[in-house]
Amino acid sequence: MATKTEQGAQEYVPAEPHSLDELRRAAAGCRGCHLYRDATQTVFGAGPEHARVVLIGEQPGDIEDRRGAPFVGPAGKLLDRAIADAGLARADAYVTNVVKHFKFKATATGKRRIHQNPNRTEIVACLPWLAAELSMLHPQVLVALGGTALKGLLGPSATVAASRGVLLPWPQAAYQPELFPDEGARLLATIHPSAVLRAVDRDALYDGLVADLRLVTSALAG
Ligand code: SF4
Repeated sequence: MATKTEQGAQEYVPAEPHSLDELRRAAAGCRGCHLYRDATQTVFGAGPEHARVVLIGEQPGDIEDRRGAPFVGPAGKLLDRAIADAGLARADAYVTNVVKHFKFKATATGKRRIHQNPNRTEIVACLPWLAAELSMLHPQVLVALGGTALKGLLGPSATVAASRGVLLPWPQAAYQPELFPDEGARLLATIHPSAVLRAVDRDALYDGLVADLRLVTSALAG
């Protein structure tokens, strides 16, 4: 029989939330999967309630876990720069992750925490929080930053390489589609900013990220 911590986030999501702050407070107590046990805290999304674009990453990293805010480490700084270079207003952007707790493996000395990719069960468990954020924000464009976010929305066969470079119509969500009604938003797939930081050819990957984000700028202007 499934334990309570394997049942997913849905039972922790307020039935009729009135604000992102209400969701944020509720998410702080989520025990919808086991990832809360080792992480420092829930890292909920951040940004204005009227944001027209929601950028979705994989999960908080080490710095985000400690500070309790998404995209505040090196990848977040790079993303901020890419958003600006793409001509997007930061006030139009809400940033979040498909998984709200940091998954990691401690090194033998316990001094470092090594990022671990969330698995499909963990992603599906956490998706009700993303759905609740979207229900408050009603964005015009979702941006999946990297393969984990994209697969969380479209399913395991989706890849950034096959999907990027174009704004996609809002598809049927692969998991819990009833939580992700079609509100006319469009979806952009692009790389995660951490991929730029890891790359040998950083400039080329950065330029690709900015080029993808410019599609969002154009869509909002249109
Ligand atoms: S990862 Fe998501 S579902 Fe799991 S405990 Fe954290 S907030 Fe809840």
